Amino acid sequence: MTRTGFDTDRFGTDPGATIRANLAELRHRITAACARAGRDPVEVRLLPITKTVPAEVLRHAAAAGLDMFGENKVQEAMGKAEALADLPVRWSIVGHLQTNKVKHLTRFASEFQALDSLRVAEALDARLRAEGRMLDVFVQVNTSGEPSKYGVAPEEAAGLVARLPDFPSLRPVGLMTLAIFSAETERVRACFRLLRELRETLRATPAGAGLAHLSMGMSGDFEAAIEEGATVVRIGTAIFGTRPTKDGIYWPGLFPEVAPT
Ligand SMILES: *Cc1c(COP(=O)(O)O)cnc(C)c1O
Repeated sequence: MTRTGFDTDRFGTDPGATIRANLAELRHRITAACARAGRDPVEVRLLPITKTVPAEVLRHAAAAGLDMFGENKVQEAMGKAEALADLPVRWSIVGHLQTNKVKHLTRFASEFQALDSLRVAEALDARLRAEGRMLDVFVQVNTSGEPSKYGVAPEEAAGLVARLPDFPSLRPVGLMTLAIFSAETERVRACFRLLRELRETLRATPAGAGLAHLSMGMSGDFEAAIEEGATVVRIGTAIFGTRPTKDGIYWPGLFPEVAPT
């Protein structure tokens, strides 16, 4: 029994202090990875991933200086965006979107990192035009080839990017991927390298010229991602602790669709 509305096992009794300490450690590791790669840390944006973190705890995260939150489910994100409407925070959706959820996303999100079909591009653009606004988008690429992962196949990315000028409310700013979940770091790095090479190829095309960003790397693999060129790292667990899964089993760093069986 607790008097707080959040999980004290996960966030501690002083979530602000927990988050500040985790962020300090994380920024230290990001800086060190940049140093190893000869990169400037200002080139790497930290996108905190806040799925399963209650709005009450996110107030502490905002107070700690975080001003953009990433979520994989539109409905969960929308509820928190409403609860935190008084704060100057922006929202990024990083998970697969169904066309029937497009109307929710355009109400509050300023970035969408999981564009993986023309159908969704078309639906987003129609809705954004009606609202008279733009949206930053990343094309999600399935660099591991695992059937459990969303994203276009690497060989299909050029075709999708070439069509994006048809949707003037979408601003294509980069590519996004989830690497294979594996202890073999070479296989993980191969996913990151593939995304970077794909971006170089696409950037040389007229429709791909704006693809400046590579969103890759999560709590378990962000250092390798930075060494391979990431400009956005999406970090949940390392800031907010381990997420509980539906059946109460804790899988560090994982979310259900890639949990080992
Ligand atoms: C949950 C999630 C993350 C963050 O994962 P952690 O391992 O907790 O850092 C990153 N990207 C996407 C798309 C996610 O769904």
